[in-house]
Amino acid sequence: MIKKKIWLSSPHMGGEEQKYIQEAFDNNWVAPIGCQIGLLEKSLESFLHKNYVTALNSGTAALHLALKLANIKKNDTVLCQTHTHVASANPIVYEGATPVFIDSEPDTWNISPELLEKAIRDLNTKGIKPKALIVVHLYGMPAKMPEILEIARKYNLKVIEDAAESLGSSINGQMTGTFGDYGILSFNGNKIITTSGGGALITQTEKDKQKAIFWATQSRDKAPHYQHSEIGYNYRMSNIVAGIGRGQMEVLPLRIKQRRANFDFYKKNLKDLPLELAPLEPTGYFSNRWLTTVLTDSYETREKIRHTLEQENIETRPLWKPMHLQPIFKNAPAYINGVSEDLFNRGLCLPSGSDLNLTNKKRITNIIKKVF
Ligand SMILES: *Cc1c(COP(=O)(O)O)cnc(C)c1O
Repeated sequence: MIKKKIWLSSPHMGGEEQKYIQEAFDNNWVAPIGCQIGLLEKSLESFLHKNYVTALNSGTAALHLALKLANIKKNDTVLCQTHTHVASANPIVYEGATPVFIDSEPDTWNISPELLEKAIRDLNTKGIKPKALIVVHLYGMPAKMPEILEIARKYNLKVIEDAAESLGSSINGQMTGTFGDYGILSFNGNKIITTSGGGALITQTEKDKQKAIFWATQSRDKAPHYQHSEIGYNYRMSNIVAGIGRGQMEVLPLRIKQRRANFDFYKKNLKDLPLELAPLEPTGYFSNRWLTTVLTDSYETREKIRHTLEQENIETRPLWKPMHLQPIFKNAPAYINGVSEDLFNRGLCLPSGSDLNLTNKKRITNIIKKVF
């Protein structure tokens, strides 16, 4: 008999989502405009404690608009963490700019501040001045923002935080996504909260928010007819989707607790095995533990665990394949120290859904134990 599939990270509704969708239907705002959108933005703004939030139809769209707000143009250079999901880097190419990839440091698995500064200096000697940096808080673990912001100030870089995986993560109480000039969130199906598909842009000013909404709604000039003096996009979130988001915001604190409990369970129950439950939180750092990740001793062990779980109908996934190893970016410059390639070879994401029950968690850890 085929056992019921355990997914890596599935949508987990809170219960009130359909009530807010119903409100949208009742008012007939079945459109990318309506009060659910504004209410979701308010709720995100209050959760993040500050900043302005614009609800969009994906995290990728939010990254694209962040790059436009940072005034990235054709042939500009944008630095980007190499250890990430491809959506962090693709929008750089949308604007005709050149990505330069930077490797990670071992504490947080995110961009190495040391290598970042080295890369900037080396590029400067070649007459290249990068204009922006995309830093990612992978799997929920905050990147080393204090160090990164200091470097960004020194070299006049705009900072875009890809917080798609880290909603609710913080450093000394400050939420990821609110440190940089711009931040982005994703509500795709497998994220800590989901709207089926969606995202948001975090900005420091109301002016940036208004500009983002302008671009996201086809850049319509003020006129009774349709007139456009700038290229626009269809990036605004739907009012229906925003209703799902409002319901999900109500359970976000609980979802963070549940994801963190998954990590604690795995850590406790796998502690006698030659596996490293990592990365650990540096002092003052708080991770939402979107996905629980483990480091094995070798590629072979990683694959053995992955295959064994797969045979039991349990989904796992290797860590992100670094961007500098991706065929589409093979010609992009990269500053590499080996960390992301090593993580890619030895690392695995374990099932981490907030709806993962104790029976299933025990099933997973028992299978992993048997591998050894
Ligand atoms: C999911 C994700 C994105 C993209 O968000 P979408 O809403 O799917 O467009 C960007 N960056 C990272 C790191 C992600 O995990």
